[in-house]
Amino acid sequence: PKGAATVAPSRSGSTQSISSANVKVVVRVRPLNERELEKNSRIVVDVVDDKMLVFDPKEEMRPFFYHGVQQPNKNLLKRANKELQFVFDHVCGQNSTNKDVFETTTKEILVSLMEGYNCSVFAYGATGAGKTFTMIGNEEHPGITYLTMEHLFYTINSFEKDREFDIGVSYIEVYNENVYDLLKPSKTPLQLREDSKYGVMVAGLTLYNIKTARELLNMLENGNKNRTQHPTDANAESSRSHAVFQVYVKMRYKTSSQLRIVKLSMIDLAGSERASATGCVGDRFKEGANINKSLLSLGNCINKLADGSSYIPYRDSKLTRLLKDSLGGNCKTVMIANISPSNESYEDTYNTLKYAARANKIQLNIKKNIVDGNLRPSQYVKINEELKKKVKEL
Ligand code: ADP
Ligand code: MG
Repeated sequence: PKGAATVAPSRSGSTQSISSANVKVVVRVRPLNERELEKNSRIVVDVVDDKMLVFDPKEEMRPFFYHGVQQPNKNLLKRANKELQFVFDHVCGQNSTNKDVFETTTKEILVSLMEGYNCSVFAYGATGAGKTFTMIGNEEHPGITYLTMEHLFYTINSFEKDREFDIGVSYIEVYNENVYDLLKPSKTPLQLREDSKYGVMVAGLTLYNIKTARELLNMLENGNKNRTQHPTDANAESSRSHAVFQVYVKMRYKTSSQLRIVKLSMIDLAGSERASATGCVGDRFKEGANINKSLLSLGNCINKLADGSSYIPYRDSKLTRLLKDSLGGNCKTVMIANISPSNESYEDTYNTLKYAARANKIQLNIKKNIVDGNLRPSQYVKINEELKKKVKEL
């Protein structure tokens, strides 16, 4: 059956979190699309279970990786079999729903938000890997932004006895190192300011007060239509902008009148594929360079945070400046790395996994014999510790 062979049953008992850091990394594998199915493309991602995957597994061991054909064609066989094993905080397989992704990413982050942490969630990956599907989704499968907001309203309900809430949202775009309001389109970029009460602010940006998650649906849909998109040679749907959805939660404690403002940021990042691969010249090339700048700088900041460094280079790009008060320190960060399981996206998937592994402080492991679907969570912790030690030795 389609895709079923690569999805391991989820292990309900494994509640133990591997990463104790404030950066959590989750990988989501999307299902094969029509084109990939038609091409009988080889599946290069084997989801072992809810924490581990193997990239580019050896095919003789996995005959069921092919769809419709018994033997792969010779070109595919020429590819290296890297057989690289990765361990993440969570792996969502091809059959996972947006609800599943919500359960393993932003649901727990809301607990931190209510405790006063700023939080941020990123969807990272190449164009077509499933970032927007994960964040925004569609009518039938609402994305984690909607699911998170729905849960936020549910959560604040239970706090309303002793706190008053005020929820404001904004939806902006970082494009070519400029910031634009997606809910009130204008050609003039907005400026960033630092405010002692609100933290980093976008000057002139309207916050929309909302009382239910439903009110969001139209806003997100319209906002998304305003995203800057340019068809490129390699991919007509290529998105070169970062979409940043932010929620400001103002809480006033009824007994003390104390006011507290926390911020949740959910970011649909621009495609991580390299500009050179899309044959861009001129303006398009500049866009690519700037996107790489913001993505690179985000990667640097997250790596340094995961490292425990004291200096974080937030000022290197607009995106990291914008998110300065929502990364590190008293903040929780979740990185959702989106990948296709198909050989067609071999390089992109490999690069995304490497990026995600760096953010997770876990080096890829070339030893293959510890792939075992029956591992218990405690054994993962051990593997994880060993991998971390290796990273330190490098
Ligand atoms: P990106 O935003 O990373 O460029 P998209 O989210 O637009 O990629 O996904 C590309 C295509 O694949 C879209 O048509 C989307 O609906 C589909 N898709 C992505 N992820 C899934 C998934 N988990 N289940 C079903 N369809 C998906
Ligand atoms: Mg997209």
